[in-house]
Amino acid sequence: MYNDNPTIAFEPKKIDESKQGDVYFDEFNKDPNAKHFYIESYGCQMNFSDSEIVASILSKAGYAPTRNMEESDLILINTCSIREKAEANVRQRLHIFNKLKKTKPAVLVGVLGCMAERLKTKFLEEEKIVDIVVGPDAYRDLPNLIAGAEEGDRGINVLLSREETYADISPLRLASNGISGFISIMRGCDNMCSFCVVPFTRGRERSRNPFTIVAEATDLVNRGFKEVTLLGQNVDSFKWENPETKEIVNFAQLLEMVALIHPDLRVRFSTSHPKDITDEVLHTIAKHENLCNYIHLPVQSGNSRVLKLMNRTYDRKWYEERVEAIYRIIPDCAISSDFITGFCTETEEEHQDSLSIIRQSKYTMSYMFFYSERPGTLAARKYEDDIPLAVKKRRLAEVVQVQSEVSHQHNLNDVGKTFKILVEGDSKKSDQDFKGRTGTNKMTIFKKKPGVKPGDYVFVKVTGTTSATLLGEIIEQ
Ligand code: SF4
Repeated sequence: MYNDNPTIAFEPKKIDESKQGDVYFDEFNKDPNAKHFYIESYGCQMNFSDSEIVASILSKAGYAPTRNMEESDLILINTCSIREKAEANVRQRLHIFNKLKKTKPAVLVGVLGCMAERLKTKFLEEEKIVDIVVGPDAYRDLPNLIAGAEEGDRGINVLLSREETYADISPLRLASNGISGFISIMRGCDNMCSFCVVPFTRGRERSRNPFTIVAEATDLVNRGFKEVTLLGQNVDSFKWENPETKEIVNFAQLLEMVALIHPDLRVRFSTSHPKDITDEVLHTIAKHENLCNYIHLPVQSGNSRVLKLMNRTYDRKWYEERVEAIYRIIPDCAISSDFITGFCTETEEEHQDSLSIIRQSKYTMSYMFFYSERPGTLAARKYEDDIPLAVKKRRLAEVVQVQSEVSHQHNLNDVGKTFKILVEGDSKKSDQDFKGRTGTNKMTIFKKKPGVKPGDYVFVKVTGTTSATLLGEIIEQ
């Protein structure tokens, strides 16, 4: 069914090994007269992927990217609004940009992303150095807004869309190592978790035409990439209806379409939602070796009453059943999660439920935060943020402690095993070592071997571990 779309060629050409590293950044720096833009991105992978779409739109408008803020004509910051601290970081950066603007008044400053969408015109009122404010669905309007700002008109476009997926825009791979790339498959979120700003800052859910996703992944394969991560706030609810045939493509089918592009292309995805992850998705992962056996399945809390307050639309029993299904259908799968400690009215006992679900689910890692009330959310409107900060922090410390014990045990269980690793580059600590991840998304450090280079797959026998990293040696397979 999926291979009959005439516009997309499925037969990828031989991988051109020479196109490694960040050539993509430099290829846009050929026009000496081009104006330069400098972009900083914060928050989730979705934001980093959006910055690559922004870079592509700007490069078509004659701008070239620079990593050097001082030489830029346009400074952009792609913001996150998920926690108070994230927004405080943005204000600090604007302060830094202001110093440059004092010495270079013509430089324009633009704020993108979720904080821009949340604050809207307030941003222009509160931050005098900001020239343009653009929400996540309005990046096509950037060239217009920049032209206006060059004339002195401070601009704003924070319209959210029900259609926009930027499907026709080929991202400029800014921070890429030429091996792994992000592909956003959908935008927005229809869940209304009571603590979350995303539905207000990224709008309603819409899925991208799967054939454009396959085309983008095929293009990456032809450019030498070996791994793609499919991105969405809730990838399991991916659903695209073919306007002509009315055929529906769901997430499991999309995963298979991407897996079939090339056996050497590793496929990852993020983020899943416990209420929507289906057995069909799990069986599809089990069927294809290049669909990585790793699932990020945020739970947020281990207690059903708290989950109800969070409006997560599942309870502990449902979550446990999903975890059981994952380990039953994909026995060597790794699962990671998200936790919020100290949510409104959470009791000590309910906190203990979060600690117990970590042990029970055997997560390899988790993203862990204490509750940060976000303006405009359901929780901010309905519940008092009544857990003292000291208690929130103490509970967070306990969740972090239990998770690191479980992660370390999970790594210890891997000692002696052999894993297929995609070499990503030099390890941070020593240029005598390579780093790369297992299918289960575990960073592994191993000695270099002649003839092996980034982008290669090698088999590594695990000889040891730290709490967060596997250590090993390349073996002939
Ligand atoms: S699923 Fe919930 S937490 Fe995740 S983006 Fe949507 S509303 Fe936010």
